[in-house]
Amino acid sequence: MERFVLAKLGSMFGLEKADGIFAPGGSISNLHAMLLARYKLHPESKQSGIFTLKPLVAFTSDQSHYSIKKAAVTMGLGLDNVVQVKTDSLGRMIPQELKKAVKRVRDEGKEPFFVCATCGSTVLGAYDPLKELADVCNQEGLWLHADACVGGSAIFSDKLKHYLYGIQRADSIAWNPHKMLCVPLQCSVFLTRHQGLLDACHSTRASYLFQQDKFYDVGYDVGDKNFQCGRKVDVFKLYFILSVHGLDEIARRIEAAFDAAAYLSEQVALRPGFRQVIPAAQCANTCFWFVPESLRGQEETPGWWEKLGKVAPRVKTRMVQSGTLMVGYQPIENKNLVNFFRMTNTCVPVPTSADMDFVLDEIERLGKDL
Ligand SMILES: *Cc1c(COP(=O)(O)O)cnc(C)c1O
Repeated sequence: MERFVLAKLGSMFGLEKADGIFAPGGSISNLHAMLLARYKLHPESKQSGIFTLKPLVAFTSDQSHYSIKKAAVTMGLGLDNVVQVKTDSLGRMIPQELKKAVKRVRDEGKEPFFVCATCGSTVLGAYDPLKELADVCNQEGLWLHADACVGGSAIFSDKLKHYLYGIQRADSIAWNPHKMLCVPLQCSVFLTRHQGLLDACHSTRASYLFQQDKFYDVGYDVGDKNFQCGRKVDVFKLYFILSVHGLDEIARRIEAAFDAAAYLSEQVALRPGFRQVIPAAQCANTCFWFVPESLRGQEETPGWWEKLGKVAPRVKTRMVQSGTLMVGYQPIENKNLVNFFRMTNTCVPVPTSADMDFVLDEIERLGKDL
């Protein structure tokens, strides 16, 4: 079943003859990607370690998921060797900035090896420009990993899959069915175009498990492709959900999640007291501020923004205490570090415009007197 589902997903993402594995989360899938990239460049490091290598450097956008940093820490590369490439106002990595950063790192005598493109960033829902990034990676000989944990779900929809254009050129892809598709935790897919590389990178051929003289095709023993030993059969949950609903229904649900985010963003623009963080929703995420009446119609000084930044945490507290809604908030660097709400839509239950209206009504109700 695992081989069947991975092959199907591989062909949906446009990877010919994909190899892959199910992982207990996108963080681990991203770690797999970085491990494979290092192994591909320095296969000898499996035996001798990385002590004689130049420092290896990974590149990712300043909006990427924190698991890229954690993977670098886990691999002994260190946070200093993760370069956070600048993004544009919508949170997408700027390919020219990547090029510049790669050059700078080479000039410092370090060795670039890995680029993570985010497809549906955690906060703004930004899709990095895959085609342009793939061009840079080709020129520079770098591994391109697509962290499509959130936004990879667009691949099911003919209407939405253009957001992932270029993903067929990635060396590896991470996609989380346990995010937008709401497959019960944990279920994450890791795919790579490099057949056999997972096995070459991770295998240790333990003679008490992976005997080569079994009575069946030992190609079904996928365990040695992983750095884990015992695992759950995570593919089962995904297979079950895809077969029960069918791919057309999944596509319809993903589209509903994107549409609801777009609708919410439009409503934010129309309603007094609400303000968009970016001009339209990206992926299934809508980012917005709520401005209580006490702060409306005033000059927007740094002090005003500071006060606004305190609104979301206070509304959130009341939200949790009243138990009516769960919407996250956060500050980000390129939006003045002022807390804003982030509504993240998924497909279970299928979100409607009435649900989105409720989100705004409820935030307004909870924050009216602030
Ligand atoms: C959530 C997320 C991850 C991490 O996935 P986990 O399954 O929670 O480990 C990685 N990348 C992105 C973009 C994410 O949003």
